[in-house]
Amino acid sequence: MFDVGQLDIKYVQGVGPKRAEMLNKELNLYSLHDLLYYFPYKYVDRSRLYYIHEIDGNMPYIQLKGEILSFETVGEGRQRRLIAHFSDGTGVVDLVWFQGIKYLLQYYKVHTEYVVFGKPTVFNGRINVAHPDIDPSGEISLSTLGLHPYYNTTERMKRSGLHSQALEKLQRHALALLKEPLPETLPPYLVSEHHLLSLDEAIRNIHFPQNPELLRKAQYRLKFEELFYVQLNILRYTKDRLRKFRGLRFEHVGEIFNTFYAEYLPFQLTGAQKRVVKEIRRDVGSGRQMNRLLQGDVGSGKTLVALLSMLLALDNGYQACLMAPTEILAAQHYETITRFLEGMNIRVELLMGSVKGKKREAILRDLLTGEVRILIGTHAVLEDTVQFASLGLVIIDEQHRFGVAQRAKLWGKNTCPPHVLVMTATPIPRTLAMTVYGDLDVSVIDELPPGRKPVQTIHQFDNHRASLYAAIRRQIAEGRQIYIVYPLIQENEKMDLKNLEDGYEQVCAEFPHCKVSKVHGKMKPAEKEAEMQRFVTGETQLMVATTVIEVGVNVPNASVMVIENAERFGLSQLHQLRGRVGRGADQSYCILVTSYKLSEDTRKRLEIMVQTNDGFEIAEADLKLRGPGDLEGTQQSGIAFDLKIADIARDGQLLQYVRDVAARIVDEDPMCSKPENVLLWQQLQALRKMHVNWAVIS
Ligand code: ADP
Ligand code: MG
Repeated sequence: MFDVGQLDIKYVQGVGPKRAEMLNKELNLYSLHDLLYYFPYKYVDRSRLYYIHEIDGNMPYIQLKGEILSFETVGEGRQRRLIAHFSDGTGVVDLVWFQGIKYLLQYYKVHTEYVVFGKPTVFNGRINVAHPDIDPSGEISLSTLGLHPYYNTTERMKRSGLHSQALEKLQRHALALLKEPLPETLPPYLVSEHHLLSLDEAIRNIHFPQNPELLRKAQYRLKFEELFYVQLNILRYTKDRLRKFRGLRFEHVGEIFNTFYAEYLPFQLTGAQKRVVKEIRRDVGSGRQMNRLLQGDVGSGKTLVALLSMLLALDNGYQACLMAPTEILAAQHYETITRFLEGMNIRVELLMGSVKGKKREAILRDLLTGEVRILIGTHAVLEDTVQFASLGLVIIDEQHRFGVAQRAKLWGKNTCPPHVLVMTATPIPRTLAMTVYGDLDVSVIDELPPGRKPVQTIHQFDNHRASLYAAIRRQIAEGRQIYIVYPLIQENEKMDLKNLEDGYEQVCAEFPHCKVSKVHGKMKPAEKEAEMQRFVTGETQLMVATTVIEVGVNVPNASVMVIENAERFGLSQLHQLRGRVGRGADQSYCILVTSYKLSEDTRKRLEIMVQTNDGFEIAEADLKLRGPGDLEGTQQSGIAFDLKIADIARDGQLLQYVRDVAARIVDEDPMCSKPENVLLWQQLQALRKMHVNWAVIS
């Protein structure tokens, strides 16, 4: 970093100790460097002056040149305001202030020329501009009349006068402190190869663009640099890890895998499953440790891929472990896998918190001797008492519930870290995966097993219940089962529970000849399990539940998913819920029930759900609608939020581009020894020190 950049922010003209404290606390800005890297969130073109007679109430902002004819103070208490009648000779507007009246009266004079800028509103036929920017026209030169930066500020800052305009002034003072151009943070060859602005030009133009073209170039340069270093960090880290850690080598495909494949596999693998199994085989046979993310929509058949991978481990003399986020899911995996392996004489055990005493002791003992070959479980498998004879492969189902620290813990269970396969049904847009799970290789199952009919999705307003219930009745008559899901948002559990109870009673009344299950998060696990089981076995026809059924539950006979208050769910959650149906051969339906009043965003979400079943398309749309901060999977990483200027949703192409640039550099300079790259590695070191998150990627 440049030296003058380290200057304490309080020494920037116009800051001082009090404002410095405010900037520290509110925006986390401590130095001149921090300030210069606090970028505007938008720009407004102030190159044009309007005449008052041109103004209508729909303009986003106007800029006028004229003089104040007179001042007037009206109203009492909170209504008290100062009005300045302002004219440019073509008409009169009222400038209105609710605060700082004393100061304004002192500072601004009648019959002096000012440039006024703000948003006009038309009220009772008069034009108002509330809290306008107002400057003596002599102080506004042509050069400051171009694109104006707008900075985000907080309520506290605004209250003490540190609004966007004040920050703009501080940025001017900050730039004035730079006696020399800012030192470059990218090597000259990258700057010229990719036609980038110099850092100095970029920083100056990002705050005060000389013209729109330079603004675009400044943004490009800064986004390039930001994304480039994120990628360089991840790729460097991965490369170094590969060098440091050998991986277990699963040399051959042996008897267990082949026997299972030839004699026990109940169906043909899909093309996508075959491809992914091949990718995994290549990884585990390469002699380097596998770190792979397996993405596949609900029902795409990830479990089978997991099982085949585990059999590979077994064939090479290693044990395998499969970890799931809940007991229900772990138990379901255990059941599925023991059923697949029936007759093959492979010992599989299930370990969870509820497994205690003699049973637990036996499992732990036989893990150590290697007799237990596949262990399936919850977090319980992470405990220190769980020791393996030779753990070769760890599979984590539903990644986002497990943090980085837990993955690391599993590594420790063998002297040579086991291969890791992470499975998720939450499709993560490619761009996000590259950043959040940037050190993982990614496999995708993008094909459903044959014979599945795509779920048909329908949006229905909640006053059309009669036809909804009629449709459900028809499905039940055909022997199908129905889910009815209510939202559960933690802040308001009581109300949600009431919703669920009311819904349950209504359903019971509406379907008197049916049995109805009810499941929610407040029930004891055993109770919940028992109730779920009643639905799984078909004893109950309807399941009224909260989102606890979201992950994992598999009832192929269920053909309708009704989602109540669908407006309260996010896209990926709706998609997950929809994945609970359409698992059998029958046509299935997902019915999104909402009230009439919907926001624009909600309308879009529902439209997307109705239009597509493609999880990746939905994830991309979700990313665009919500931004990366809210998406599952980004929380532990933090990286996606740290970005100051790039936007993972919008800059996907650039991200891919800089990733390739970074990958070439890491390949060509594996030991960081090329002189032209010295600056890169220094910069990376500095960034790793600055960003806590950068050091902890998986
Ligand atoms: P998920 O990816 O959601 O974990 P599962 O592994 O639970 O999906 O698979 C969903 C269902 O599809 C299971 O009943 C499974 O047995 C079945 N299945 C998996 N692969 C195939 C295949 N190649 N052909 C037919 N059915 C399959
Ligand atoms: Mg699964």
